[in-house]
Amino acid sequence: MKKNIGTEERIFRSLVGSALIVIGFTWLRRRKGRTAGLDPAVLGAILTGTAITKFCPLNALLGIDTRRKRHPFTRVYQALGGIIFSSHRQDLLAMEGEAIKGKKPAEPQRVTNFGKNVRFSPMHFYTPKNESEILAILNMHSKYKIRAIGSLHAWSEVAASDDVTIDMRHFAQVQVERKEDEVWATVGAGCRLEDLIHTLHKQAGVTLPTVPAVTEQTIAGTISTATHGSGMPSMSHFIEEARVAAYDSQTGEARIYDWSEGPELRAARCGVGCTGVILSVRFRCVPSYSIEQSVARVSTIDEALASESEYPLQQTILIPYAWEYFVYQRRPIHDKQVSTSWMAYLFRAHWFVVVDVLFHTTLLPLVNVVGSRRLIRWFLRDVTPLMLWAAPPHTDDSAEVLVLEHELFSHLEMELFVPARHIREAVKLLTKVMSLFAGDIKRVPPQWEDQLESIGMLEELYRNRDTYFHHYPILVRRIMPDDTLISMTSESEEPYYSISVFTYYRDRSKIYPMANFLAFSMNRLYGAGLHWGKHFPLNNAEIEPLYPRLKEFRELCTRVDPNGVFRNSFTRRVLGFGEY
Ligand SMILES: Cc1cc2nc3c(=O)[nH]c(=O)nc-3n(C[C@H](O)[C@H](O)[C@H](O)COP(=O)(O)OP(=O)(O)OC[C@H]3O[C@@H](n4cnc5c(N)ncnc54)[C@H](O)[C@@H]3O)c2cc1C
Repeated sequence: MKKNIGTEERIFRSLVGSALIVIGFTWLRRRKGRTAGLDPAVLGAILTGTAITKFCPLNALLGIDTRRKRHPFTRVYQALGGIIFSSHRQDLLAMEGEAIKGKKPAEPQRVTNFGKNVRFSPMHFYTPKNESEILAILNMHSKYKIRAIGSLHAWSEVAASDDVTIDMRHFAQVQVERKEDEVWATVGAGCRLEDLIHTLHKQAGVTLPTVPAVTEQTIAGTISTATHGSGMPSMSHFIEEARVAAYDSQTGEARIYDWSEGPELRAARCGVGCTGVILSVRFRCVPSYSIEQSVARVSTIDEALASESEYPLQQTILIPYAWEYFVYQRRPIHDKQVSTSWMAYLFRAHWFVVVDVLFHTTLLPLVNVVGSRRLIRWFLRDVTPLMLWAAPPHTDDSAEVLVLEHELFSHLEMELFVPARHIREAVKLLTKVMSLFAGDIKRVPPQWEDQLESIGMLEELYRNRDTYFHHYPILVRRIMPDDTLISMTSESEEPYYSISVFTYYRDRSKIYPMANFLAFSMNRLYGAGLHWGKHFPLNNAEIEPLYPRLKEFRELCTRVDPNGVFRNSFTRRVLGFGEY
């Protein structure tokens, strides 16, 4: 069953489908004994069902596949989505890759990331098809700045380049190999996680050791910023071999490195694009597994974290203004006999229709068109908890449970990394800061005043009273330490918790004063860092003390890239590469 329904068509189908179901059942109830309401209800169920499974037999029959970005139907749905909800459209995909052999100078083209907050116009844009082409590009532009890109899902400027951009989409091969009772995968840099998970499961009944909340990213983009899920180390940690194109320190010529141990591998596991162009990576897969999930509704962060030892993969959502926590309690089940329960199918359908689509299609107009604080507050405090179903335990395939459809609508995120011992304090501070920015409180309690005063940030907080109304739930996840040089949890003896703040305001900059305040205050109070791939207001001065191996990382990068070709303004500002 090959999927053939793209993002915008899914939103359209689920909205129209749910409306038809409601209309159908209303008719059926009003006209008892008559079946006139059955038609819309059945049609609605079909539309919603196909939106959930991403497959439509009629599309298949007519050869329509709206997952293909260039299909005319895709453009119609994209236009509708763009007009109504500012949903995600990747402008990059409209661009033509420059012919490599022709070497003709390309017109600067505009590249836009998922969050629409980063735009850049590289002088040269390449879509190479093999390693020789990559080496040729590296030699041709050895005096310029080069960045490889994946799916452009980073919100920070980590992927931006004004000189040369290399799109790795043609490096998407997956090679699965059995070694005794282990299964290994060698994966091309540009392979999207969704395709990778599908291939691994189909070919060998295995999956990734950990999965982030969405699977649109490429494997190289994923590891370059230490992308993670909840309850595990990041995906970077699991990479056992990296094949990378960079420069020879003696000759200055482009060459290929195969790193399978030592500091080079640890650097490449999370290289923020600075260790060269990743061509492929190799890692050990884990057998496909299920997850038992239940949802608990609690009122304090302590209660939320209490279930963690029993449910190691759990994650928590905090609803602003209701100040309630929904804990998605999850534990892995490795028994192959366990199958997906009917409750799991119900939960999947509920989550997609009610949370992924209805919640967002209601919130976005409230935030960007109506703009009424009272309505947004009411929606979050009184309606959202009703939409989040506190479902009883159910068992489902791991990818179905761990992966959300969070990419349906374009937005921006900042993710703080707080050492485990400070998470309770950090969440309490966050709620106070959000309330103060929203104008709900005039002052923070004395204990916070003293602490913020001691780091010189109390005045800044009070200056921002009643200036920003936060409008989206907060996500809290636990990330285990990594074996890398500079991932967010590298070199740590304790786990970290991440706190994600999101904005769906079209004008992304509205969240910056609050996000920046949180980043600097939590950095100074708790030694908090930030996700490399998300909104990143901190600078090298704040970052350097958090990463004891950063100097070693810079030296390794310089060895394979003496001219600083693989650096950009973001890595200079944050990683402290100096003039280069
Ligand atoms: C909706 C959404 C949900 C997300 N959920 C999560 C989550 O649950 N957990 C999490 O940790 N993160 C999450 N992220 C962040 C995302 O996983 C990271 O930003 C990731 O780096 C994006 O991968 P990409 O393929 O889009 O890479 P890009 O954004 O294109 O690039 C990111 C970095 O990788 C480098 N890079 C890409 N390919 C190569 C290559 N071949 N060689 C060398 N460098 C390369 C780029 O130069 C850049 O520095 C999410 C992002 C979005 C938009």
